[in-house]
Amino acid sequence: MKKLISLVVAIIAACAAVPLLSAAALHGGGAMADCPPTATPTTAAPGIGDAPTVIAGWDAEQTANIATIIGVGNTKRVPPWGWVIAVATVIQESGLRNLPGGDRDSIGLFQQRPSQGWGTAKQLADPAYQAGKFFHKLLTIDGWQQMPLTDAADAVQRSAYPDAYAKHEADAVVLVSAVVSRFGRVIPGGVEQCVSSLGWALPAPGPIVSGWRTADRPTHAGVDIGAPRGTTIRAAAGGIVVTVRCNVSEGTCDTDGSPSIKGCGYYVDIDHGQGVTTRYCHQLRRPSVHVGQSVAAGQPIGIVGSSGNSSGPHLHFEVRINGVDTNPVPFLAASGVHIGQPV
Ligand SMILES: [Zn+2]
Repeated sequence: MKKLISLVVAIIAACAAVPLLSAAALHGGGAMADCPPTATPTTAAPGIGDAPTVIAGWDAEQTANIATIIGVGNTKRVPPWGWVIAVATVIQESGLRNLPGGDRDSIGLFQQRPSQGWGTAKQLADPAYQAGKFFHKLLTIDGWQQMPLTDAADAVQRSAYPDAYAKHEADAVVLVSAVVSRFGRVIPGGVEQCVSSLGWALPAPGPIVSGWRTADRPTHAGVDIGAPRGTTIRAAAGGIVVTVRCNVSEGTCDTDGSPSIKGCGYYVDIDHGQGVTTRYCHQLRRPSVHVGQSVAAGQPIGIVGSSGNSSGPHLHFEVRINGVDTNPVPFLAASGVHIGQPV
């Protein structure tokens, strides 16, 4: 079992950048035009082979079925959001189990029916076959990546209870994340091209104008990205917003700060789980997220400005692991995201 999952994860690690880049090309410009496609990871991700065989609350059979679905989706170059739709569908249809029967002549993981042209009963007994049929049909649906999960799933399944899929979206994201990456990947529809195969995104484009703990700034706990005023700031990975605050030693966060003012200005902290947090400082105005909000990798959380201890517009970005600040550049590079991309 573990071998299978490791294999699937290895395949994803090797190939996922291709469909991600294809998705970027297909999407063209649009709302995400300022989100550069992520690059293939240049180094093996830490712990990529450590995907859990059993995820809390789900047993090995269910986890193996998720790995099968993801493996088939990846082979067919279905973007990761499609994997989430498939897993949410299967949670509803069969509880992630390859059932021998079901309602009328429904069979298996996806509860597809021989009488409806999905295949023979023998073919449909194979989870990989069912997953393949699901993805084949999903890819024929115009605009499926922009649809609510329920609509996309029902366009494939034609369920009597289409609204039932939506309630499994959060679980599906977590399960796909756990199998694909130890970092708890969260994949929003429509910004997949912003997100690396390991679930991380560039917080803002722009050159590095000041590095982490450099010789002349040994206490500089983050990296300064020289993005212009007004640039969208994106969550570097999925997580929960734990801080939204204005922090200045004098004045307000609604005007530009200066080097003589102390504080991060308007800033956001996101907790990504597993002891990893990120911080986004000097925002132009009160951030668009609130404490307790779940955010996805690549999701906009604010706008670049110059509030607080700042000499000009930029994003001060920090990564902390168990509270200890860590150089964000190699940390994100290991997850397939390269800070310092041109605006
Ligand atoms: Zn800084």
